[in-house]
Amino acid sequence: LMNLTRKLIEIRSMLLSIDQSDGLKLPSIVVIGSQSSGKSSVLEAIVGQEFLPKGNNMVTRRPIELTLVHTYSTDGQTPQEYGEFPALGLGKITDFSAIQRTLTDLNLAVPASDAVSNEPIDLRIYSPNVPDLTLIDLPGYIQLASLDQPDSLREKISSLCEKYIREPNLILAVCAADVDLANSPALRASRKVDPLGLRTIGVITKMDLVPPEQGASILTGNRYPLHLGYVGVVTKSPKRSKKDSLALSVQKGEHDFFGAHSDVFGGSESVMVGTNTLRRRLMEVLESSMASSLHGITNAVQLELEEATYQFKVQYNDQRITAESYVAETMDALKLRFKEFTQEFRRPVIREKLKNMLDDKVMDVLEQLYWLDKRAPELGTIAADPRLKPEEIEPYWRHKLQAASSLLTKSGIGRDSTLLVADGLRSLIDSIAAGEPFTFHPRASERLIQFSHMILRDRIGVASDQVENCIKPYKYEIEVEGREWDIGRERAIDLFEKEVNMCETKLKDIRRKVGGSRRLGGLVNYVKSLEEKEREKKMKRLEGGPSEDTVEPTPESYRYPPAQILDARHAILYSDRLAILRLRLAALRSKRCRAGPQSDVFCPEAFLNVVADKLAHTSAMFIGIELLDQFFYQFPREIDSRLLYDLDRKEIVEFARENPAVRRHLDLQERKDKLEEVMKQLNSLSTLRADPQPAPRRH
Ligand code: GDP
Repeated sequence: LMNLTRKLIEIRSMLLSIDQSDGLKLPSIVVIGSQSSGKSSVLEAIVGQEFLPKGNNMVTRRPIELTLVHTYSTDGQTPQEYGEFPALGLGKITDFSAIQRTLTDLNLAVPASDAVSNEPIDLRIYSPNVPDLTLIDLPGYIQLASLDQPDSLREKISSLCEKYIREPNLILAVCAADVDLANSPALRASRKVDPLGLRTIGVITKMDLVPPEQGASILTGNRYPLHLGYVGVVTKSPKRSKKDSLALSVQKGEHDFFGAHSDVFGGSESVMVGTNTLRRRLMEVLESSMASSLHGITNAVQLELEEATYQFKVQYNDQRITAESYVAETMDALKLRFKEFTQEFRRPVIREKLKNMLDDKVMDVLEQLYWLDKRAPELGTIAADPRLKPEEIEPYWRHKLQAASSLLTKSGIGRDSTLLVADGLRSLIDSIAAGEPFTFHPRASERLIQFSHMILRDRIGVASDQVENCIKPYKYEIEVEGREWDIGRERAIDLFEKEVNMCETKLKDIRRKVGGSRRLGGLVNYVKSLEEKEREKKMKRLEGGPSEDTVEPTPESYRYPPAQILDARHAILYSDRLAILRLRLAALRSKRCRAGPQSDVFCPEAFLNVVADKLAHTSAMFIGIELLDQFFYQFPREIDSRLLYDLDRKEIVEFARENPAVRRHLDLQERKDKLEEVMKQLNSLSTLRADPQPAPRRH
């Protein structure tokens, strides 16, 4: 059978976990007193165990929410006494000195700069020797300022206590008998919030230190009346033998002391003495206080529940979620997203990308070997001569073609093409990791990037070696078929046309920039004449003539600013390039070039294009096998093993709550659930109370 207090204590801790709004609070007993008033001794006497931190410098730095749960014997077996710190997950602690050590550690963990912390420690003690009670132990008031306890600490403690002694809590004001009550900070603080003493119980400790009559007169409370009265205790046992428990020795001590002065303390109805009386008193007071809060709290919970239910309906259409479902959905969405993106890495797409890269290389090779060659125009002329047979052409041109082909095939295609694709994958992953919902999950996003980059790093070497290996044959010999030749020639024409367009646009830009074609013409002539002079000077120097370093300023040098001279130099480069490109375009379109692969020497552009195409094809195939297939296989599995499976329940919740929308949803849902549960408990209480046979009270 559960009594009312016990049930309400349960409900109280549930409400505490919902929120701290004042309407939803059930009372607890707050223990206040100055340092050394005997506060710890009283608490330990109530519990019957030594469990609070001791020692000279040991001041309580955090509130302790102490919940005492009376346990009943089953089958005549005395139940075990134990404590629990629900927030720490240490399980049952049967050794009370371990509880003491834990509390000490928690106290010491408060940074010295903070001195005290508002964060309460939740401690529950289960024992057949304790009543059902909730007590809150607070740091003791500092009475005398001293060097190691600065004023700020004193104020911090006061304001912490002030927060806790508000309604509906009961106040246990601990005062030592040998200190004038007028000086008791506990009573002073309680009077401020509870002037009539309606919810304050006075505990007078160290009754043994004053003459019995004096002690008894304090307890009558004539000077500082408290509605709930004073209880006198002696919590220091003079000599505690090893075999006696704390509870027993306190009991003996009090029995001896109050018994010896029964003339003063005995018989009298008006004074209350002894720890047992104190416990009983606390239970009575807490129970009646809780009972009187019941109606108000039931109404408040009902209102809150209605509001939460309404919000849940309106905002989420009664849709429930769990952290697990959110995580699972997120991972599925990630895999799906990734799968969509893999479309961008289909083989034809990759081939096209590689071909573009190789086209650039082809242009570089052509520039290096042909366009910069002064004999380049010759190639056009001989190609236009219909009588010239391919075998009659100078070996010079055949060597050139071979050099060009080998420059292209040996330009590090394996590495470059693998890196190109790997970079594409990398930026794909980076963009996924930078998008929703990973914006809310920075750590998961970082891990995603980390492991995918790692998979890539692992594959790049193998893949690029493999590609290099497979294009090796092309380094020695390349067979070109007629159809391939035609396609290569067309593509070369396309590329050259684009290049021509590009050069024309650049020239046009320069012309506009310098102020028209006339001016550009003047500039170009001037630059050319400068170059001519330079050349002459160089010749003279080579011939050993007198060096005349000074360049005489000409009228033109004043007309053209240096920036425009630079523009003119660029213009010269572009028009030279244009001239060559146009020549080569004509060659590519010529009958000779259309004839087929046997004309490769005349049309290196078409030939190199075919080579580039073959290289792109082979590279794409092996990158597909060695890099992409591997990556696409491994990636979803790594998501499971690195993002998902090594998360424990706590981390899953943490992850889900990183997303603010999910956090709000979970919070509201949880709040509603808890309120429902509390409401259920409260309803069951009212039937309990309506029961004609009231639950027996244990004392
Ligand atoms: P706290 O600082 O308020 O927690 O006080 P403690 O419980 O640590 O007690 C302060 C000192 O008073 C300790 O030395 C206790 O042994 C002593 N003390 C506590 N209760 C009594 C008592 O009833 N009688 C006597 N003579 N000393 C007590």
